[in-house]
Amino acid sequence: MAIVVQKYGGSSVADATRLKKVAERVMKTRREGHDVVVVVSAMGDTTDDLLALAKQVSPNPDRRELDMLLTAGERIAMALLSMAIRELGGDAISFTGSQSGIITNDRHVDARIVEVRPFRVQDELARGKIVVIAGYQGVSYRREVTTLGRGGSDTTAVAMAAALGAEYCEICSDVDGVYTADPRVVSAATRIGTLSYEETQELAESGAKVLNAQAVEFAKEKEIAIYARATSSPLPGPDPSADGTVVRRYPPRRPGSVVGVASERDIILLSLERDVSAGARDTSILTLLDDHRVAGKQLHVADGSLTLVISRENLHEEARVREAIVKRFGDAVRVDDQRGAVSVVGAGINASFENVRHGSDALTAAGITPAAVSTSSFRITWMVDRTKLDDAVRLLHRTFIETRQPVP
Ligand code: ADP
Ligand code: ASP
Ligand code: MG
Repeated sequence: MAIVVQKYGGSSVADATRLKKVAERVMKTRREGHDVVVVVSAMGDTTDDLLALAKQVSPNPDRRELDMLLTAGERIAMALLSMAIRELGGDAISFTGSQSGIITNDRHVDARIVEVRPFRVQDELARGKIVVIAGYQGVSYRREVTTLGRGGSDTTAVAMAAALGAEYCEICSDVDGVYTADPRVVSAATRIGTLSYEETQELAESGAKVLNAQAVEFAKEKEIAIYARATSSPLPGPDPSADGTVVRRYPPRRPGSVVGVASERDIILLSLERDVSAGARDTSILTLLDDHRVAGKQLHVADGSLTLVISRENLHEEARVREAIVKRFGDAVRVDDQRGAVSVVGAGINASFENVRHGSDALTAAGITPAAVSTSSFRITWMVDRTKLDDAVRLLHRTFIETRQPVP
């Protein structure tokens, strides 16, 4: 029997009624003759609520203790889902990340999976069970419980699918696939039928929440097909791109065409001025950030000055880090937390400067003057005033997608 891995996000399991609906969908998959592994996120806003609670107790919470706390969210969901499946006559068993063999490095709060040893999962599948796994968590070689960074249940699902040699990995959410922009922000956004790994990875890294970037990276490495679908959708038919998005190896599109627009709200721009007398400041600030386990997104060093984009997503000790930076670098450092990043993504979009000019002109004409622009072969990113971020997304979507050919 082919193995199918299904992941259900927080909104899909937000209450008992929804958990029961997920259990029905799992049973339907089982009845189609598949071996089923289910990865589940914490219910609704549980992770946010636990984080808020931690902040009330400790404004700069210890990362290890945060992991002990946050993993409880997925553990609740896995046990309840397993019970709901059993109630429908299914033979389910739940496992934590550690029990299912998700081995990570020891970087608490945003650990990376280094290996999956799915022996217990395989044993239970062989016994005919439906295996329910707590997403977003693993265990380090030192036997410490870790979490994989926000949105990390997607990563659990793809890594498990790869380790089990699954036929495909379904990521089920409140949206029926990957759209040309966040449909909550852009009403004209349309669902994309098929995406390449590279396009999806860039969209995810640019802030499109629907799929986690590390999950896509793993899928690409192991060539696992991802089906992004709505939890309320039927099971995938012969053409899963008809009512969802399929992410797989895909031939390049017409070079230069924009496939999607994504944005990231919670970022900090850090810049450090040149000061020859101070020596190698750029590396010393990077050391400081590493000591505090802060992950940078984009680094630009030129002529002794440094600019860095930091994502706030997995930064839970911001106050402590900012204090340490100011103490060490004083006035030489500028911390700008008033910006957001908006990106357009597509293969070959920077073959000429046409797209970057076009986007910059459109933004400026609308009174959204970008503070910075950066490009890579797949992406153009503008830093804009955070209060105008959604307007910028809508404008760039209009400019690059609505007025051009639809994305197939
Ligand atoms: P889950 O809890 O199921 O993991 P997420 O909240 O992580 O769900 O991701 C789904 C959300 O991602 C959607 O509700 C949607 O608003 C948002 N989103 C952002 N960008 C996109 C996009 N390009 N396509 C689809 N959804 C997107
Ligand atoms: N519950 C975790 C989060 O909210 C992981 C996930 O949902 O994928 O980030
Ligand atoms: Mg998610």
